[in-house]
Amino acid sequence: MDRVRTRFAPSPTGRMHVGNLRSALYEFLIAKHAKGDFVLRIEDTDQERLVEGAVDIIYRTLQEAGLVHDEGPDKDGGYGPYVQSERMSTGIYMKYAKELIDKGEAYYCFCDKERLNSLKTEVVEGKEIMLYDKHCLHLSKEEIEANLAAGKPFVIRQNIPKEGTTTFHDELYGDITVENAELDDMILIKSDGYPTYNFANVVDDHTMNITHVVRGNEYLSSAPKYQRLYDAFGWESPVYIHLPLITDENHKKLSKRSGHSSFEDLIEQGFLSEAVVNYIALLGWSPEDNREIFTLDELIAEFDYRRISKSPAVFDYTKLKWMNGEYIKAMEFDRFYELAEPYLRKVVTKDLDLRKIAAMVKSRIEVFPDIEEHIDFFETLPEYDVSMYTHKKMKTTEESSLEVLRDVLPMLEAQDDFCNDALYALLSDYVAKKGVKNGYVMWPVRTAVSGKQMTPGGATELMEVLGKEESVARIKRGIELLSR
Ligand code: GLU
Repeated sequence: MDRVRTRFAPSPTGRMHVGNLRSALYEFLIAKHAKGDFVLRIEDTDQERLVEGAVDIIYRTLQEAGLVHDEGPDKDGGYGPYVQSERMSTGIYMKYAKELIDKGEAYYCFCDKERLNSLKTEVVEGKEIMLYDKHCLHLSKEEIEANLAAGKPFVIRQNIPKEGTTTFHDELYGDITVENAELDDMILIKSDGYPTYNFANVVDDHTMNITHVVRGNEYLSSAPKYQRLYDAFGWESPVYIHLPLITDENHKKLSKRSGHSSFEDLIEQGFLSEAVVNYIALLGWSPEDNREIFTLDELIAEFDYRRISKSPAVFDYTKLKWMNGEYIKAMEFDRFYELAEPYLRKVVTKDLDLRKIAAMVKSRIEVFPDIEEHIDFFETLPEYDVSMYTHKKMKTTEESSLEVLRDVLPMLEAQDDFCNDALYALLSDYVAKKGVKNGYVMWPVRTAVSGKQMTPGGATELMEVLGKEESVARIKRGIELLSR
């Protein structure tokens, strides 16, 4: 068997869409699973769509996602150049286009815009498509040569017969056969001399020895035309894997409007790159045992492209958040703290022990920005309603709470050691003496020091972080509110 070689072939047009990252990930996994090569090729032949800085985004995204390429513009593996515009300068596309012309599989076309605009159009899959009428196929050799000599602008088109059928094979969809009459004589070389993506991908995949091609199923309708090119050259086509569409929760194509369609969007929203990669791996693929949490190495070991599903994959933001939360829970504390610190500092400007606060929230958040809502009360006691002191299960009322806070206040004022254990012992002692349940005391104390129904820690943990002065002040504030 040939050495497995896959390629990720992005066009530098902006942020990396989740769908593109999925193609990259699957290509990476197929290569690494087979101990083969993962190649990065930049497809910049559509000069009008290029966006400045987009190549850097591609490098950065691959690096952050851990999808390290073995070959690419920055890592020569002997198949370069790895940027299509640079490949063009070597003359490779023109050479192969001319070979097709010699074989009768392609032809020069000198039709101008006006003539093309006058041709019939057809609606194919919702898009208006012009089926070229092969006018220039019938030019004589002399006419062609005269046009070329006169410097008349031209394109080179693929010559697809009107009769017969073309069959290609996709790993997920099986054999697909189409009527040739439905295929247009697509442009291989544009009038600016650049190859079209449609032509360049075939030449490049072959000359770079690519064995598996993973791409979105929007390319499925062009695949027969690629197959005809492989056949015309007498080349073996790579294994094709066309991936199902990624939709949003409303089953519409995941678009920029969703606000989370690119890798960078997700990172900005506080997701961990490893959780994003793990989640994206499951967008269309599942292991035999329905397991869900995988490191990249585990994915490499498990990934079998035959288990990719054909049905559309729904991007479930809630599920991604859950998964991110699992990664945060499992993360080493030091790394967590490093990532959480900017979010903690955003809210807490006072001199409080941020590591302790971080430890409290670690198991409670799904994404880092969640931290803010959990800890805002540390900075300032929020306005709260006294009805919060009444808790059925804890058997507390406003009266019982007032009594407890009045008892606890002098105890805290007399207490010097404000560490959690000491405070817990102090309050437990009071609980025992009073002969009540823990919550009867802890609930009102926690309410008074936080002003919140839900907090990332218990009453004494919060007081430890807040310190004596602030805790006492907040208990006093509680007494004041309850005595009104
Ligand atoms: N340059 C194409 C894109 O970014 C690549 C498609 C392919 O993988 O063949 O959509």
